Amino acid sequence: MFKKHCPRGPRAETTDLRVRITDLDAGYPGRPVLRQLTVTIPALAMTALVGPNGSGKSTLLGVLAGVIQATSGQVQYAEGRPPAFVPQRGAVGDALPLTARQTVEMGRWGERGLWRRLTRHDRAAVDLAMERLGVADLADRQLGELSGGQRQRVLIAQGLAQQSDLLLLDEPTTGLDPGARERITALLTGLIADGTTVVQATHDLEAARSADACLLLSDGRLVGQGPPEEVLTATGLS
Ligand code: ADP
Repeated sequence: MFKKHCPRGPRAETTDLRVRITDLDAGYPGRPVLRQLTVTIPALAMTALVGPNGSGKSTLLGVLAGVIQATSGQVQYAEGRPPAFVPQRGAVGDALPLTARQTVEMGRWGERGLWRRLTRHDRAAVDLAMERLGVADLADRQLGELSGGQRQRVLIAQGLAQQSDLLLLDEPTTGLDPGARERITALLTGLIADGTTVVQATHDLEAARSADACLLLSDGRLVGQGPPEEVLTATGLS
């Protein structure tokens, strides 16, 4: 486990880190995005990735998820399960003929393989994730006919069904009404209490303010890191 001194007044204590990224360069073929990024992700906490469109938030999530390789630098994970990635709601086709339960079951494919039947353990993990996110009663509904908030909770349940202790989410509350946003934020906070580390890219300032730590990106570089009250200042955001 990594250790880091966390200088946060009453909360000052030795905090475990879940991920440490050092001098990272990463991007896409012919398109460097993240440059010389050195950041830490505290364990059992909520980290918000904030910054304007195109600043590299999704790319950083991709690096954390292991789907985008660093061109230089280091990504070190503390011991734990492979991360679970929850994509943007918009990236999941409305027209896919999938029920909510089938969508959550896809979270088990990584472990089970596409063509193998789900085991009793898989089904139990799916049941538990759906109950945890309050979507068990939507099991047989088509994904496309759910509200934005319901669909987002189904997608988070898919991540949870992977039984990872590191959950990565891309804009989970963007575009939702305030009630649905609050519910998602409360659910994510509950997952942290249950032993999960959560990282979310977000445009939702309320969600970012309720995080334990913020990473502020601009044009692929880190311009702020720390508690929201220090990072989300008018100067930082401008
Ligand atoms: P954010 O999530 O902060 O909006 P992104 O990480 O999505 O930012 O994008 C950062 C930059 O990388 C943008 O300039 C974007 O156009 C570019 N980019 C994103 N995805 C790809 C891709 N698949 N191929 C090439 N460039 C990409």
